[in-house]
Parts: sequence; structure tokens; C-alpha cells
Amino acid sequence: EKWVYTFGAGLAEGGAGDVEKLGGKGANLAEMAGLGLPVPPGLTIIADACTYFYTHQRNFPDELKAQVLDGIGGVEAITGRTFGDARNPLLLSVRSGARSSMPGMMDTVLNLGLNDETVQGLGKAAEDDRFAWDSYRRFIQMYSDVVLGLDHEIFEEILDDEKARFGHEFDTDLTAAEWQHVTRIYKQMIEDELGEPFPQDPQVQLWGAIGAVFSSWMNARAVTYRQLHNIPVHWGTAVNVQAMVFGNLGSTSATGVAFTRNPSTGDKELYGEFLVNAQGEDVVAGIRTPQSLTEVARLESGYDKPAMEKLMPEAFAEFLSICNRLETHYQDMQDVEFTIERGKLWMLQTRSGKRTTKAAMKIAVDMVAEGLISEEEAVSRIEPSSLDQLLHPTIDPRVAREVIGAGLPASPGAATGEIVFTAEDAVSAKEEGRKVILVRMETSPEDIHGMHAAEGVLTTRGGMTSHAAVVARGMGIPCVAGAGTMRVDFRNGALIGVGVQLKKGDIITIDGSSGQVLKGAVPMLQPELSGDFAKIMAWADKTRRMTVRTNADTPGDARAARSFGAEGIGLCRTEHMFFEGERIHVMREMILAEDEAGRRAALDKLLPMQRSDFTELFSIMHGLPVTIRLLDPPLHEFLPKTEQEIAEVASAMGMEPRALSQRVDALHEFNPMLGHRGCRLAISYPEIAEMQARAIFEAAIAAALETGEPVVPEIMVPLVGLRSELDYVKGVIDGVASEVMREGALEISYLVGTMIELPRAAIRAHVIAEAAEFFSFGTNDLTQTTFGMSRDDAAAFIPTYQKKGIIERDPFISLDFDGVGELIRIASERGRQTRPDMKLGICGEHGGDPTSIHFCEDVGLDYVSCSPFRVPIARLSAAQATI
Ligand code: ADP
Ligand code: MG
Ligand code: MG
Repeated sequence: EKWVYTFGAGLAEGGAGDVEKLGGKGANLAEMAGLGLPVPPGLTIIADACTYFYTHQRNFPDELKAQVLDGIGGVEAITGRTFGDARNPLLLSVRSGARSSMPGMMDTVLNLGLNDETVQGLGKAAEDDRFAWDSYRRFIQMYSDVVLGLDHEIFEEILDDEKARFGHEFDTDLTAAEWQHVTRIYKQMIEDELGEPFPQDPQVQLWGAIGAVFSSWMNARAVTYRQLHNIPVHWGTAVNVQAMVFGNLGSTSATGVAFTRNPSTGDKELYGEFLVNAQGEDVVAGIRTPQSLTEVARLESGYDKPAMEKLMPEAFAEFLSICNRLETHYQDMQDVEFTIERGKLWMLQTRSGKRTTKAAMKIAVDMVAEGLISEEEAVSRIEPSSLDQLLHPTIDPRVAREVIGAGLPASPGAATGEIVFTAEDAVSAKEEGRKVILVRMETSPEDIHGMHAAEGVLTTRGGMTSHAAVVARGMGIPCVAGAGTMRVDFRNGALIGVGVQLKKGDIITIDGSSGQVLKGAVPMLQPELSGDFAKIMAWADKTRRMTVRTNADTPGDARAARSFGAEGIGLCRTEHMFFEGERIHVMREMILAEDEAGRRAALDKLLPMQRSDFTELFSIMHGLPVTIRLLDPPLHEFLPKTEQEIAEVASAMGMEPRALSQRVDALHEFNPMLGHRGCRLAISYPEIAEMQARAIFEAAIAAALETGEPVVPEIMVPLVGLRSELDYVKGVIDGVASEVMREGALEISYLVGTMIELPRAAIRAHVIAEAAEFFSFGTNDLTQTTFGMSRDDAAAFIPTYQKKGIIERDPFISLDFDGVGELIRIASERGRQTRPDMKLGICGEHGGDPTSIHFCEDVGLDYVSCSPFRVPIARLSAAQATI
């Protein structure tokens, strides 16, 4: 079996395509070597050897030793040096390198092969003893840390003491003799600590280092990193054994790191730093201040020492041309590591550079203009969920944060405002033109108007799918949910955080992207939606097949969604209109009415309000499709709950509190999610559906007359399980439609369809499709009813399920393809059997989730509908799903 792949001197056994075997670092070293770039020769032990190591009690495969020694033989031939030779020793670096980069998580050993004898030879060969002893002490430090398990701080303490004794400030000030002295102390300390001397045999050193790199795959840092980034443990790490080149060979030598473009702005400029007479991690370690690569950067950022461009013009020119060559070759911005040994440039690493969303956009757009990549490629390079960063104000990363609490990053963006503890206070503050953060233990539907009035929402309880989180995401306002380190003391009107107690009116800032709660106001960066963003979105729109609609309950939502590019409304939840302002009172009047006549009287008052809402929605959407769902939630959601609320409402309605209380009790349900809601309400109280249908048709006529654009309302009947349910409600709607059209003397077209949110409806889709003109998958309820899991209570056990590996993803956030998805497939197929041109869409939270959107493309849905702020994410995801 082949465990070892070599590279160097313009040849390589592998290349960039061999990442699985060689790891990212090894594959790209091979690729660069193959391109003829100056890469120190070496070999890569494949990642399978790491897996072997762990399945064989940390032993190496039998053939490995011979193959590695063979590879080193090749390196010796290229370099003209011999590993372990006393006169002209070859030194090696032993570097980790997994399939996907895990920066700084695993270990590397440099200058391997040095001992008391070879250090002398190295000094003579380089004619620089100081360099040789500096390299030896570095090796002892690194090897002891990585392989022998001695804390590197012990070494730093010794070094600091000695430096002070010699009267030096910097490591570069030490002479050969002084470094020799330091190594003697190091070795003595190691022998004292471990009871045996520092290993002198280069072969022992080599296999110790290889084993240590494999072992570092399981160190705590690496394990955590893999968990956070979903990297499977079975991948293992490759090991790269490579000839050393030396950046610590005096003032004509250096080491550095660079991005081929600016990773925070995306500007096309070399960006990075280097250090003269240094090695390895010195640049990042911060012992000395590094120097800039270019003169421009030196002038702009105030580096005090000359730039590489000035100091080493020839090496710089070569470096610049290699960077350009790498970009063209990889067709992407690269993050590179390099070393200059006595004026000669060596490339030590290249990979795709990490970047901010803003930079990612700019780089993709620029690369299209430069002819490096296609528009489609540009579209596929942007991570859809990262657009969140762009669409909301964000906290200026340059300012200090005074964190007073933390919770879940439930809805992205940052917001500042005064603390209020009730929805009413939020509304009245807004009316006075003040900005507020609504702080609650948790929120409920009664808080909606307060959430609308607030800049952001903070709760101390609840998870990512809690009411506050879902509603805030829908509204596009920032939310930090379940800030368990904070406490709301309602009685005293206080918010208690880490080391602070704040009261109503105090200013806080919440960061819904990180979950942090900060004291006071903080400078923000505003979103930028033109330029590169607009270009990428235009390319995405050209590419995608599905249309993207929005879930919008208010004119404000609809306007925001239009500005984000929504192509219609996929779901208007009419009940949200009933919580606004005065309407809740009329709504309650309707619900509490003794009989149909009383209900109709209240509905007559609601009719003009609904009609004006719909007229506005229709004119904002200007001829685009608008789907309106009939009243869905159980009626008691609109009623007062606490004794105090009941007393207030009773007096407002001129009712006896006791009578009201009895009526509220009568409406109580044991399991409201499965209770008297959805189309069941329209069947019990057809006058409600009549009123809503009338409001819709009258508004459609009004908007058609006003804008001249014909509106095609799509009326959606919720929670249908039986065809007969839909038949009944459709009968009511059709009746109102012909009445209104006769009255208005105007013919308008409309569709009646249903939400598919019950398994029975999905299975009987071919029959329901005989009555339904469209289906919209209500995946929140469909997930709830398929799993039999209440989504309002799931936060209590879903995290445990995830921790114990019972489920991977929260099905309320990312669609469960196997179960819920299968029902969607079945319903789509069966629905289209009956009605081939039937329009199919999705309107649950999943409509804005990138992986769920890929699924929708596969199933062949016509559109996805999501909250306004996720519209751009959905446009991009829908495009990527077709590429
Ligand atoms: P990491 O994955 O943590 O970046 P690397 O294996 O890239 O670890 O090594 C870190 C640094 O060590 C490199 O940036 C480089 O400065 C130095 N280094 C690695 N290999 C060599 C080498 N062959 N010659 C000189 N320096 C090297
Ligand atoms: Mg590196
Ligand atoms: Mg539903």
C-alpha cells in the first residue's frame, strides 16, 4: 500500500485534487511544486495512516517506515544535505494538515534533526553559528512542547530570565554563545523534568514528531473545532515532512503570511505581514511587531519599519508574481505562507482565504470582471446564510464591547434602545419617537404589537424556535433569546445582568448575531445593498427556476420584502392584523358575542379594517400574486388571560368580570394546536370566513381600479385534512365572490387553495386537489403533526436529542427530508396527478433555510416563501440549487 507521496523540484506525485488523501496543506504543496513554484521538497504521509494509527493502538503501518525513509532520500538528493549528517545536516519540518483547514488546532515541529553534533555542522555550513544555535533552541522548545508534553511557558520563563541577565530586549539580540548557553539550560531542565535526556537521535526525533502530529488530531482543541465545524473524526490528518528553509538566517532572511486580496474589504491588494530574521510562528506570536508587505499598507496603517517591497525588492517582485499566478490557477483569493532565506523566496503553504461576506461579494464580482470565473461560479461562491451579516445593522467591530449578558443569537442584527418590560410601554414609547428594546421572560402572541414597536427583543427564556425567536426573525428585528445569565425582576422593574442592575429606560444594545447583550449604545455599521450585492443577486435571479415570495402580515413587511426582491406574498397571516391597536377589542367583541347576530355586528366593524389592509397589500405588491390565509389560530389566543387583564377588558367592554371569565373558560382547550382552529373555525362560524372573503374581494376590486394592475388573490384555507372541509369553505368563498363581483360590476379572477400541513392532507392530495387550485406546504405545522412534537414545547428536548445523537438537526429549522420531506413529495406528485398545472409552494420557516430550499428545488416546487429579511438568502439559495 502506498502511504507516502513526494513533492519537490518541479515534480509531485499528487495535486490539489488529492485533498482527501494528502490533506489541504499537502495537496496544495504538491500542486505548487508541480507548477514549478519554489517549494522546499518533502513528502506527505496520507491521512489513512492516521486512521490506521488510531485503529492499531497508535502503531504505524509496517510499510510506512521504509516509504518515509525513501522519501527523505529523495529530499536529500534534491537539497544535497543528509538527514543526521554531522557536517551538512538536512533539517525537516513535520507539519499536520487535515482535509479541511483547522488553523492552529494541530501541531507542527520545525528544525527537526538538530542535536549537539549537527548544530555545529549547521553553523559551519551556513557560516553563521548564531543562526544554528537559534534554530536548535527553537527545536528544543517546539519538540518538548509537542512531543514530550512539556509546557512551552517553562521555556519562555527561562528565556526571559536569561535575556534579562544578558541585558537584551529582543530574541534577535542574543549571540551564538548566549543561545548555546540557553540550550544548555533547556536540556538540563528537560532531563530534570523527565528523567532522561533530550533525544539526540534524528530518527527517534522524526518518529516522535510524526506520532505527535497524529496524536494532535485528538487533542482537546482539535476535537472542539471539529464539533463546531462538523468535521468527521474518521478523516484523520495527513503529515507533511519537508526540508526546512530558514527565515532566521540574518537580515536578508524573513518569514511572513499574506492574503492575495484584502480579506475584510475584498480590495485587490496584497495584504499581510512579515518579520525579518524570524521563523515559523514568530509573525503571529506578537513578540516583535511585524512589517508591512507593501509601501501603500505601510503608509496607510502606520507600520514604522520599511515594507518588504522596499527592503527585499527582488524577492517581493517574485512573490507578487507567484501570488498572481496562484490566484489565476486556483481562481480564488489565496492565503499563503512564505519564507525568504538569504534573499531566496520559498512558498510554504497556500489555501483559499477566509473572508467577510462583504469581501466575498467584492472578490466574486471582481473575478467575473477579470474573466477568472463565470457569473454562475460567483453565485455559488457566496454562502447564503452569510447574507444575514449584510442585511442588518451590525456592531462596529472596532469598538470595545461591555457585555452584561448572553443568550442565543435568535434573529440577526444589532439594535439599541431603552429597556421596556411590556408591549404597551413599547408601543407608547414608539409613539413618542423613542427607540426601545422589549425585554421579557418570554413573549406570546399578545406581545406582537410591542415587538413591532421595538427595535429588538431580549428574552431570558426559550430557544431558537421560541415565539420571540420565530416572530422576530419574521419581522426582521434582532432578537437575543434565552439569556439565562440575565434575570427580569418585574416587580421592581429591573433587568439584572452580570455585575449590573438596569431599570426601565436604561439604554442597552443587543447583538442578535452573536447573542450578546451590551450596556449602553454602541456604534453600528449600516447595511449596504447596492453595488456588488445587487450584481450577485441579479446573477442569482437569472439562474434560479423557483420564484421567491415572502411571508408578510403587514404593509410594512410587504414593503420591506419588495425592497429585498420578493415576487409576491406566499403567506399573509390575517390573524396578526387583529392584534393591532383598537382591533383587538373588536375581535374580542366578536369572539365573546352570545350568538351569530352579535358576531356579525362585530365582524361588520372588522370588515373595513381588513379591507383597507388588503387594499394596501395589493397595491404594494402591484399585480404580483398574494396568498391570504383565512383565520387560523384558536380563538382564545385573542382573549385576556390573567385576572387583571380580564378585569381591564371586562370594564372596557362593559361586561361583568365574572361573565367574561366564564366565557374565557368555556373557550379553553386542552390541546389548542390540535383543537378548534384552522378551517374548523370557518366551518363553525362561516360568517368569519365570509367577512374575510368579502374584505379580500372588495380590496382586489379597489386595488385593480386604483393601480390598473389586475390582482389575482389566492385564498388559502388552513388545516384541511378532508376534501369535504375544503368543499364547504370554498363554497362560502365562492358565494361571497359572485356577490361582490355583482355589486362591483367587475370580474376578477381568484384561486382557492389549501395549506398542506396535516399528514392526511398530504396522503389524500389527489382528492383534495380536485377542489384546491394550489397547495402551499405549511411546514411548521406539518413538521409538528408528522413528528407529533409540539413546536412550542420542543425546545425542552430537541437540544438533548441533538446532544445524544438521536437527531442531527432541529427539524423545525431544517426540513426533515426523510419524513416530512417524503410527505411533501407524495403530496406534490399526487396533487399534480389530478391537476398537472397546480401551483406548489412552501411557506414555513423552512422556506428561508438554504438546505431546505435545495430540497424544494428537487421536488419541483414553484416557489418558496419566507420572512422578508430572508428573501435575498432564498433568492441566492434557489439559484445555487439549480447549479
Ligand atoms: P499551521 O497549520 O498551524 O499553519 P504549518 O505547518 O503551516 O502550521 O507551520 C507553521 C509555520 O511553520 C509556517 O507558517 C512556516 O512559517 C513554518 N514552517 C513550516 N514548514 C516550514 C519549512 N519547511 N521551512 C520553514 N518554515 C516552515
Ligand atoms: Mg500554516
Ligand atoms: Mg399552520
